[in-house]
Amino acid sequence: MSYVDEVIERVIRENPAEPEFHQAVKEVLQSLRVVVEANEEQYRRDAILERIVNPERQLKFRVPWVDDKGQVQVNTGYRIQFNSAIGPYKGGIRLHPSVNTGIIKFLGFEQVFKNSLTGLPIGGGKGGSDFDPKGKSDREVMAFCQSFITELYRYIGADTDVPAGDIGTGAREIGYMYGQYKRIRNVFEGVLTGKGLSYGGSLARKEATGYGLIYITDEMLRCHGIDIKGKTVAVSGAGNVAIYAIEKAHQLGAKVVTCSDSTGWVYDKDGIDLAALKEIKEVKRARLTEYKNYRPNAEYHEGKGVWSVKVDIALPCATQNELNLEDAKMLVKNGAIAVCEGANMPTTLESTEYLQKNGVYFIPGKAANAGGVATSALEMSQNSERLSWSFEEVDAKLKNIMVNIYHNIDKAAKKYGFTDNFVIGANIAGFEKVVDAMNAQGVV
Ligand code: NDP
Repeated sequence: MSYVDEVIERVIRENPAEPEFHQAVKEVLQSLRVVVEANEEQYRRDAILERIVNPERQLKFRVPWVDDKGQVQVNTGYRIQFNSAIGPYKGGIRLHPSVNTGIIKFLGFEQVFKNSLTGLPIGGGKGGSDFDPKGKSDREVMAFCQSFITELYRYIGADTDVPAGDIGTGAREIGYMYGQYKRIRNVFEGVLTGKGLSYGGSLARKEATGYGLIYITDEMLRCHGIDIKGKTVAVSGAGNVAIYAIEKAHQLGAKVVTCSDSTGWVYDKDGIDLAALKEIKEVKRARLTEYKNYRPNAEYHEGKGVWSVKVDIALPCATQNELNLEDAKMLVKNGAIAVCEGANMPTTLESTEYLQKNGVYFIPGKAANAGGVATSALEMSQNSERLSWSFEEVDAKLKNIMVNIYHNIDKAAKKYGFTDNFVIGANIAGFEKVVDAMNAQGVV
């Protein structure tokens, strides 16, 4: 059995009931086969793959808090500090009822390679809780966030581990967490990113993941002689990533015709009305059913369905495994030319393969959504030098990073004879830097 297959088998055996983690490990290791085979003897001796699939540290803790009725609630908190070979652990905090060890582990594993791809000195980690902020009062959210940090503060710090937002963790939650950290530690430092602008946040962080997704999509298309202007786009999700992907796509002259939330989806053939979407999601924190009140000609459907619309470009920006084989077949049938992942692992393994086999350009999340963490790292830099850069300065750096990521993954794919396979390109480019740093630091 090959080294890659041995390690995949071991991961599945030693981490039962963590299907998302198995999926992420399989995707990464299988696409690294060519590099691993070229260095098999040395990698085996140094147990490189066993070390890369095992987190450096895995924390799981109780988060008790009191709801508005006086009832004590108990959630589970997680922080997985996956790999610090190239910098302090960095990765978001997900607050969603579906959160469990396997989900946080898959996200942390992906984050290691994503952070490496940005070219910035950040290691990989991820955290979260099964707490659901939806429907909770501000006071309840604050009670949860304070309790979460009262345990987590011991393990994080500006030079150790710097968490950020993710699903369910936006500016409000980061604010409550930052306040509690500062109160306990009595230090004002860049321990969290995604902070508000009045206390150390970075301009353009809010926009970064969505904008970055469009910058890399645009660069990839441009390098293949295709103009994004005039293209029709399907976006899923209606959260932070989706909203700013839609904004930048419209700025570049594309037309986004769909968005979705966990209850339903919208088809607006004239292009999504961004002001209405922001009002519904960012101000009212309401459901997409309201969209029709702003745009009577748009369609609202219950359930999922954005991938059934005929578009040129598909941008999944909601959650993992939201684009399955049936969806991929529909996109191919409708003549889609590109799928670029705004969310983490939104495309199942078999649909990724199907898209690639059918000539659809596919950029995986670890490259396509790296603009968020890259700008978080820029926020860390600004915090360290106690300065704030202008929106234009951050945005220009973000664009430059995304363009570089595209060229790096393209080059890595070509180097190993897999032209246009950006999954292989991203995994190889991300992996090589981390392994180099791990080797240099000895057996730790
Ligand atoms: P938000 O919480 O802001 O938005 C998530 C969106 O996806 C919401 O519209 C939500 O709908 C929908 N959604 C979430 N879970 C599900 C589900 N199980 N089924 C259907 N719809 C769902 O999160 P973000 O926009 O920040 O994150 C979206 C994705 O992008 C995630 O995979 C995240 O890990 C990834 N990402 C985010 C980055 C960032 O900077 N924010 C950086 C890199 C990656 P509803 O509100 O109804 O739940």
